[in-house]
Amino acid sequence: MKIFSDYSLNELYDLLADYKKFRAKQIFDAIIQAKDYEQTNLPKSMIDSLKSEYILKPVEIFKVLTSKDGTKKYLLKLHDDNLVECVFLKQNYGNTICLSTQVGCRMGCKFCASTQNGLIRNLSAGEMLSTISVVNADNGKCTDRNFTNIVLMGSGEPFDNYDNVVKWLELITDENGFHISERNISLSTCGLVDKIYQFADLKFNITLCVSLHATNDETRKKIMPIANRYSIDEIIKALKYYTSKNNRRVVFEYCLIKGINDSFENAKELASLTKGLNCHINVICLNPNGGPLKATTRSEAYAFVNKLNELSVSATVRRSQGSDIEGACGMLRAKTINGGNK
Ligand code: SAH
Repeated sequence: MKIFSDYSLNELYDLLADYKKFRAKQIFDAIIQAKDYEQTNLPKSMIDSLKSEYILKPVEIFKVLTSKDGTKKYLLKLHDDNLVECVFLKQNYGNTICLSTQVGCRMGCKFCASTQNGLIRNLSAGEMLSTISVVNADNGKCTDRNFTNIVLMGSGEPFDNYDNVVKWLELITDENGFHISERNISLSTCGLVDKIYQFADLKFNITLCVSLHATNDETRKKIMPIANRYSIDEIIKALKYYTSKNNRRVVFEYCLIKGINDSFENAKELASLTKGLNCHINVICLNPNGGPLKATTRSEAYAFVNKLNELSVSATVRRSQGSDIEGACGMLRAKTINGGNK
């Protein structure tokens, strides 16, 4: 089966050339408004012939948890019964959707629940677009855009699903669809250096975030297997290339883990590593997922950030939302498929 949301409007015009032209636009609108065949005004004969070949709504809501702070965590079911997460964050300045790019993940970061059961498969561009549609429609009128920002910070490694993510970026910014500005999209990677170079050349105006989480390769290797492939120096060099091409500030995510990466010495190392790079550091407190790694306290996190600021590094502690509803990467899915949260 093929998925309609994998196609841009122009591609739908070609695909549906046997039908009247406005039918392609009707299908495209149905994708954006998260409608299935029965909710469209397509003739029954057309539905009957398309249905056996194309899925119109590849994503359904399976479960929603709502946090005290209004954050909504979705567990979504794909057409092949796989589950993915998506988070809707309510903010004063506009709402943000946190999107997954893969079912599971194969990066193996020690602190991350998304990778616990490995990688099942990539999401297609259309499945990612339809995830946005479904969550958008659940938070207001389906004909409105009920969010302003998207962060690719859900489950999966976006650059391990490079082609589909690039195609999705084209679909989500398309003026016929959600028409979201590239500037309102952030993509987070654990640092696949070859892909950073490749992506830089495409000149998308999005914010690139890198999960650094350590100030030297030795520590990074202990918590992030990708550090065996690429060194921190190689990442920084690639980011300098990225900023030279895009003129955008890059963001480092730095998750504080007790006794591993949270000393003032680490803050100093972080300052010297990032010197000369147009960047901001987002300090996160570990959301413990039952493993041996423990969280640094929030007050220690503020002290760490103060130290960075004293050293003239732009850094803030990231606001934590939805921690009462399995807010961190992959936690809800992991609990559900491992039987703890049915
Ligand atoms: N694979 C990409 C996208 C994941 S984004 C990446 O590595 O960047 C999710 C962010 O949350 C990453 O910075 C990730 O390292 C971080 N993260 C994952 N599990 C976490 C946890 N238990 N506590 C705090 N941050 C976590």
